[in-house]
Amino acid sequence: MADTRKENLIDGATGPWEVIVGMEVHAQVLSNAKLFSGASAAFGGEPNSHVSLVDAAMPGMLPVINVECVKQAIRTGLGLKAQINRRSVFDRKNYFYPDLPQGYQISQFKFPIVGEGIVTVDLKDYSFDVGIERLHLEQDAGKSLHDQDPDHSYVDLNRSGVALMEIVSKPDIRSSEEAKAYITKLRTILRYLGTCDGNMEEGSLRADVNVSVRKQGAPLGTRCEIKNVNSIRFIGQAIEYEARRQIDVIEDGGTIKQETRLFDAKSGKTRSMRSKEEAHDYRYFPDPDLLPLEVSEAFVEDLKTVLPELPDEKRARFMSDYALSAYDAGVLISDRASADFYEAVARGRDPKLAANWMMGDFFAALNKTGKDITESPISAAQLGELIDLISSDVVSGRIAKEVFEIMLEKGGMPGEIVEERGLKQVTDTGAIEKVVDEIIAANPKQVEQVQTKPKTLGWFVGQVMRATGGKANPDAVNALLRQKLQVPEEV
Ligand code: MN
Repeated sequence: MADTRKENLIDGATGPWEVIVGMEVHAQVLSNAKLFSGASAAFGGEPNSHVSLVDAAMPGMLPVINVECVKQAIRTGLGLKAQINRRSVFDRKNYFYPDLPQGYQISQFKFPIVGEGIVTVDLKDYSFDVGIERLHLEQDAGKSLHDQDPDHSYVDLNRSGVALMEIVSKPDIRSSEEAKAYITKLRTILRYLGTCDGNMEEGSLRADVNVSVRKQGAPLGTRCEIKNVNSIRFIGQAIEYEARRQIDVIEDGGTIKQETRLFDAKSGKTRSMRSKEEAHDYRYFPDPDLLPLEVSEAFVEDLKTVLPELPDEKRARFMSDYALSAYDAGVLISDRASADFYEAVARGRDPKLAANWMMGDFFAALNKTGKDITESPISAAQLGELIDLISSDVVSGRIAKEVFEIMLEKGGMPGEIVEERGLKQVTDTGAIEKVVDEIIAANPKQVEQVQTKPKTLGWFVGQVMRATGGKANPDAVNALLRQKLQVPEEV
């Protein structure tokens, strides 16, 4: 692993540099209601239509913890193989902003609900572990809208008070590729658990990315934090730009100042937002309106027993149950719907053939039609029946592709399509032999050639297949041709 990761080093004028990345991910908790109020946590809606008196911070209103959000945080902690802290504390993080009516965010500072955990990330050539430092619960803020008209700014409090899980990783990531793979894996885990929808476009998953550079083996360099990057591609771009910028600064004799930076998607660059000296002093203190949060062993155990099968476990099971490669299994389990679809297709059939069809023609068709697997125009039953037809030699692989295209365009079950259109493979040797004889008789030059160049047998196979509309059984054609042209079987 260490060797493979060396390829991640970035060349500088003074030699190779190592980039060190850690991430703080804000994941919006999937729940009906907000963290401390009963208002809807749904995305969108008319501005200020999901706002309770608590979310608007009316005087005298008291927060009441939503136990479903606590459960979601614990489920997530379990999915991250993390320590669940039986006692955690909500603090006030004080700052002023128009979309924060309380004047503070309720968050967890010293005592988070989830402690250290681990996420195993798989790339094509190697796997690596990212340590999880902690996961804590906190409220989201509202949204300020500045672009509506030039003279006014507006505040929408629909998001105010929605529960977030802040998931903090250790600086265990070594490249933009690794960072993208980490956030992808984290999102897969959250979606499997059903604790966050992982929708980055709607802001339910946003990442703060910490980047520093160093010479290999040297102590950690000064880091810069890139705030609120909201797509996987942008995370990669931001890291690449920022690492190069830091290397250039250091190699030009400068030093890196610890600061918060913003990523500009249009230019692909990061720019300074505020330096460490300008950083807020949040004056954290325990929220006097909330008791420390205590959960019993039994509460955690109950959640553990109903945890779904997680991506790593599913992948391992696919490798052993269906004899798939690590890569194929990884692709098929990358979301739960694909994994379920695959299992429905593969059950009782050739699992490798099922995997090839799904990852080939089937995914390509989804891509082409721009459809999600949950709205797939081809059902698991259709694809399964097609695979049955191939396995039982009713159709060749080539004809199967044709049947697949017909299903995609017009629907219907593969068996019926084959029947209606007369696409059944011809295995009757007598019928094939007739065609073979005709083609041999019509092509004396090629017959002579194949004696010295046995590879040209393929040309005859092609001719027979064409003459039979692709329906001749390729094995039978091959055997007959070899026998009649006296081309021995390849060893
Ligand atoms: Mn936060």
